[in-house]
Amino acid sequence: MRKQTILSALITLIVVGAFAEPAFGYVLLSPRRRWATTPISVRTYYIGNNTITDSDKGVTAVVGAIKAWGIISSSSTTSAAVRGSAPATIMLNTNGNICTGTCLAATLTGYYISQTGDDRIYDADVYTSQQHQFYSSRESGCSSEYDIDGVMVHEVGHVIGIGHSNVSGATMYPSVSACNIGPRSLATDDVNAKNDLY
Ligand SMILES: [Zn+2]
Repeated sequence: MRKQTILSALITLIVVGAFAEPAFGYVLLSPRRRWATTPISVRTYYIGNNTITDSDKGVTAVVGAIKAWGIISSSSTTSAAVRGSAPATIMLNTNGNICTGTCLAATLTGYYISQTGDDRIYDADVYTSQQHQFYSSRESGCSSEYDIDGVMVHEVGHVIGIGHSNVSGATMYPSVSACNIGPRSLATDDVNAKNDLY
């Protein structure tokens, strides 16, 4: 069975306190699924994002940032993403026609095989908005830009099988504000999600 689901990191700020949120945490993608083995190879395409002003437009920053999950084999690549074929590939230079409007980045999570037990993920590719401004951990200062390091740690959470958490402060929370670098670091809730699957 093949399905395509687009999960986006939205920039929309959610008003907290207007309603009581249930006190549970992470959510795994449904159906529950994971890669067969770790470490999981995730490649970052070598052409970066034009809004990022470090030496390679965010590529090196992202290669480093996504190691935060602890189970990722991370490097850059000259091969663009091929949907449905491993390795999982992060594209900083295109929205893949799947990330528009308030979307900062989106991951195609529909490539998995149904089987007894946990389903098996065999690919997941990440695309990046070309409409918003980003900055990286390898540049200084931030002015109404979004942190590419944190956004990609979030997207790689989707790559490995995790959905959105309702814990504000978790990397897998579905929205982030400009200049917020919190999602670079995993919260306990994010680690619990990973340890549930791997
Ligand atoms: Zn997301």
